[in-house]
Amino acid sequence: MHLRLAADREELPKLLSDVQRHAAALLAGLDERDVVPSVPIPPPTPLPGRGVGLKAALDEFTERWEPTLSASAGPRYLGFVTGGVTPAALAGDWLTSTWDQNAFSSLDGAGQHLERETIAWLRGLFGLSDRHHGTFVSGATMSTTVGLATAREWLGERRGVSPAEDGVGGLGPVRVLSGAAHSSVSKALSILGVGRAALVPVDTLPGREAVDIAALERALREHEADGPCVVVANAGTVNTADFDDLRAIRALRERHDFWLHVDAAFGAFAALSADSSHLVDGLDAADSVCVDLHKWLNVPYDSAVQFTRRRDLQTAVFQNAAAYLGPLGETPDTAHLTPENSHRLRAVAAWFTLRAYGRDGHREIVERCVACARALGDTIDGTPGLRLLAPVHLNVVCFTLAENPTAERLAALTGRLADVVFLTPTVLDGVPALRAAFSNWRTSDVDTRRIITALQEALHEL
Ligand SMILES: *Cc1c(COP(=O)(O)O)cnc(C)c1O
Repeated sequence: MHLRLAADREELPKLLSDVQRHAAALLAGLDERDVVPSVPIPPPTPLPGRGVGLKAALDEFTERWEPTLSASAGPRYLGFVTGGVTPAALAGDWLTSTWDQNAFSSLDGAGQHLERETIAWLRGLFGLSDRHHGTFVSGATMSTTVGLATAREWLGERRGVSPAEDGVGGLGPVRVLSGAAHSSVSKALSILGVGRAALVPVDTLPGREAVDIAALERALREHEADGPCVVVANAGTVNTADFDDLRAIRALRERHDFWLHVDAAFGAFAALSADSSHLVDGLDAADSVCVDLHKWLNVPYDSAVQFTRRRDLQTAVFQNAAAYLGPLGETPDTAHLTPENSHRLRAVAAWFTLRAYGRDGHREIVERCVACARALGDTIDGTPGLRLLAPVHLNVVCFTLAENPTAERLAALTGRLADVVFLTPTVLDGVPALRAAFSNWRTSDVDTRRIITALQEALHEL
């Protein structure tokens, strides 16, 4: 064995407790760290021929790279939709790497059973019945790709062909109708050989990102001659956290034949609170559902779940026929369910946080994030220099400058705020804007007040 490797193995308990102390110190400083650091990125260095051992590697990482990393795990990183890591999720993630299971086959150990238990807990959390089967994937984009791949096979079933067997050539026209679809839908359609042009945007309600149900029905009727469509409903849009009316979409199925995929990447968590659960009423009617866990469940990247009611079609697409993997059977191994083959036992972090804090603990996180978003939204609404662009439906605040809201002026504003809060730019209805998305378990009203103060100061200096 290499000398350094042998020495690290010898010293492993001590080295691990050094790393643990280092991590604890980082977490203790997270709230006060600049949210986006303004230090230069170190130039890349070539890989040295000689290894230095874990201790020296940790020292080098601490010195060269750590100062450049954002505090995205912290309470005032409100860009994109970004969760942190609960203590139990962190412990679960450490143990995932410690056990280093390949949870893709049932030939060894019970990793997949742990995953299935966790999926059942998640199903309960989101109000899905056991007719929805679920699998862990790396993110919502991958989850939507699996959902739409299954939808593609369903279209084939309706038309007497199998895209999984024979390719998409014989499938005929594919129409994917959606109001304010996330960009990952186009990406998935590109990956699936259906093409980005298959996405047909449907009008949203005036001043909203929620789909206009009458327009959706018109679009369904218009494309009926081409055969059934796919509808992607949005439960939580990234700009304004708006929700399509899922019950009304469910009702359309009485008159129209379509596959319903719901992008509930973060919106599914509305189900946890009595104040917001109405937003996802009807979610169970979906044929496939996408939910991110690395957002509002506050587990580390990369973790999401995909649910579908048609596992037979899912395995038609993703089965990985290999003599060494064994047959599909009643309960297919994960190797037959997603684009992945080898499969990190991602479920452990979710299992830990769900077991440690339960439904009540995770409800409290959701409700606190929503309260923070409302407080920020109310302040922005009452600040003359700012303009709230949409009501705060859930955990996202979308706003802009009241006067001359150019992308440049907004960038100047966020630049001044970078040490206190990270916001991401967007464009809503042609208007350059900013969004603040609350989904970190650490964020409190103290943080919201700090953000408000910083925002008002920055506005003053603009
Ligand atoms: C974040 C997000 C996605 C994409 O998620 P990834 O985990 O980054 O792949 C898709 N849809 C919605 C609504 C999202 O918020």
